[in-house]
Amino acid sequence: MKVAKFGGSSLADAHQCQKVIDIIKADPKRRVIVVSAPGKRTPGGHKVTDMLYLTHQLASIDMGGNEVFSSIAERYLNIRNGLGLAYPIEDDLDTVKQAIFDGAEADYCASRGEYLCARLLAAALDFEFVDAAEIVRFTEAGDLDLALSQKLAAKRLQEGCYVVPGFYGADEAGKIVTFSRGGSDITGSILAAALQAPVYENWTDVSGFLAADPRIVKDPCPIEVITYEELHELSYMGAQVLHEDAVYPARRAGVPIHIKNTNAPQEEGTRIVPSKDEHRHVVTGISGKNGFMLVHVSKRHAAGDSGFLRRLVSVFEANGCAVEHMPSSIDTVSVIVREDPFRSRQKKILEEISIFCEPDAIQVQEDIALLAVVGEGMAKRAGVAARLFTALGTAGISVRMILQGASELNIILGVRKENFKPAVQALYREFFKEEA
Ligand code: ASP
Repeated sequence: MKVAKFGGSSLADAHQCQKVIDIIKADPKRRVIVVSAPGKRTPGGHKVTDMLYLTHQLASIDMGGNEVFSSIAERYLNIRNGLGLAYPIEDDLDTVKQAIFDGAEADYCASRGEYLCARLLAAALDFEFVDAAEIVRFTEAGDLDLALSQKLAAKRLQEGCYVVPGFYGADEAGKIVTFSRGGSDITGSILAAALQAPVYENWTDVSGFLAADPRIVKDPCPIEVITYEELHELSYMGAQVLHEDAVYPARRAGVPIHIKNTNAPQEEGTRIVPSKDEHRHVVTGISGKNGFMLVHVSKRHAAGDSGFLRRLVSVFEANGCAVEHMPSSIDTVSVIVREDPFRSRQKKILEEISIFCEPDAIQVQEDIALLAVVGEGMAKRAGVAARLFTALGTAGISVRMILQGASELNIILGVRKENFKPAVQALYREFFKEEA
């Protein structure tokens, strides 16, 4: 069996829903289906979830909300009619509307986007509808109870065919609780893990991950296979397709995730796997982000002062500023932080470093971009760093900082902001074009 989750753009209207139905019917193993709420129909359009939050907000301050709710109802009626279904969605819509205007909480209101969508899809497929409130359990504090959710899901979802709404669950008292935005990915992952599915298919509107950001590199090649670990590195540095919390349940259960494109189901997509034996390219992907700063703190014989690093890090911690990386040389430690929140606390942090660390000099470098070159194929292979620096050198880019993790899974580079795009392009050329 397979667990398949479909995102909002895959369910935006009847035409998109029909594609989803065709995909599900094409493989009888797709027995457990998780859905998002209908997403944007056009780039300037609206997601049903946003409209539900808005209705709730307007209703809660007595500012109406009827019109927005009517547009929501219209979306579902159009899908129902477009698919030629007899399902009486009007009754569900009336119940939801009543609840919202009777003061239901925001989480309940937002969750109805998925609930209604799952009702329609279950009717279209003739699958059983199972409410996520029955199987996805949150603690009183609002955190996911993964173990209990998996237990409930494994018990409830047996041999049959099911449609389950994503994005929400309930606490023990039955109160609806949602994940953060985009959370239907997490629901799919929980169910796939609970059922020990051989694969968790995540259907979206792109054919998986690309080896570089297409806004920077023209037509970057798709990543066909990536390990969870590589994905973690790439996502941390900016590449986003899945909700960041969606990987954990599947990864823990060893279930591979397959990202597929509803609009191009024939394309390979990306498989996220626990480990891989073959590495088609030395580098799997390149990602990066702007908006970092380097704080160089120099002190003669700092390396011999055992409390120096602790005092330095404490200053950042006390000011609520996370330290991203901290490369050091004998007498200088470079602390890499995000511009925001560092900038707003800069004066205080620098003063405190002066007091507690008594440095000889502090120098702040702004406008730093970090690039991550990620790939298990780099491990224990000689010459990768040489290629990397030659490519950047040839492009006239000077590297401000370099870090390589002990796992040799990634190399992180700091460059000036204006060199960010040219650096990504040069590295892509080196590791993908030349190797193709
Ligand atoms: N509908 C929710 C959102 O728009 C959750 C999801 O789509 O995964 O964030």
